[in-house]
Amino acid sequence: PRNATLTLNDGNVIPQFGYGVWQVDPDVAEEVVTKALEIGYRHIDTAKIYGNEEGVGRAIAKSGIAREDLFITTKLWNDDQGYDSALKAIDGSLERLGLDYVDLYLIHWSQPKKGKYLETWKAFQEIKASGKARSIGISNFGEEAFQDIIDTGDIPAAHQIELHPYFNQKAMRDLDAKYDIVTEAWSPLGQGKADLQDETIAQIAEAHDATPAQVIIAWHLAIGNVVFPKSVTPERIEENWAAQDLTLSSEEIALIDGLTREDGRIGSAPEDFN
Ligand code: NAD
Repeated sequence: PRNATLTLNDGNVIPQFGYGVWQVDPDVAEEVVTKALEIGYRHIDTAKIYGNEEGVGRAIAKSGIAREDLFITTKLWNDDQGYDSALKAIDGSLERLGLDYVDLYLIHWSQPKKGKYLETWKAFQEIKASGKARSIGISNFGEEAFQDIIDTGDIPAAHQIELHPYFNQKAMRDLDAKYDIVTEAWSPLGQGKADLQDETIAQIAEAHDATPAQVIIAWHLAIGNVVFPKSVTPERIEENWAAQDLTLSSEEIALIDGLTREDGRIGSAPEDFN
């Protein structure tokens, strides 16, 4: 099924599959997001730090798609953490996107050594109450910082973390699930590197007459993740979209579950990025 949705713990609905735009050049963002929207994508994942909110916004504006049919996520960058600065930061993102509200606003990194995530999270409650973000959540929180957020009693709707077959984050996914928090997988294809070369995934792909990228996307969807692979290549944007039609067997899912590795992480650990 295409554009299948999940219901967040605040009652809002999120398309499980989307399009991520990290490292998409500001000059090409409008063009590639336009392409994705034409194909049928309705969920876009951007961030202030990506520098392409304006291009994403222009693509949305000229698409003619009704606002309520889109799901737009952006993220608060690290230097905007803090109560007053977070309240200002959302206004900047909305202005660049040309929107009255985003569907999901995330604290991009927990930055535990900086120690500002709790006051930032307090501001996020206000941002949600004001209607500038329909849902609010977190990204890149380790277990300790995650627990601090839970202890506020204001439970995030989503938690976006690095997650791909070689780093499948079972423990954090279980923790998210315990609080009915949707897990969003960043770098879902492992940034197009080792995961895509895996022999087991290649065999499953061959059996389905599919590509390795499609098999990995189908695995994410099967295990309940929200997923938004990035590509600026039109054929791949289509290929990734078509992965929504691929259904893996429980044996195949278990095989991919078994690929996770101690050293599978590509990006920074939440605790280390400050
Ligand atoms: P990804 O895992 O989506 O990999 C993207 C790369 O994979 C592409 O650049 C391309 O080289 C390759 N690729 C894509 N489709 C392919 C296909 N069909 N066949 C072969 N190769 C293909 O990596 P990503 O961009 O890091 O992650 C996706 C999104 O996650 C980002 O765009 C961003 O929105 C989000 N993200 C968030 C954070 C965070 O800190 N919250 C960090 C990284 C990424």
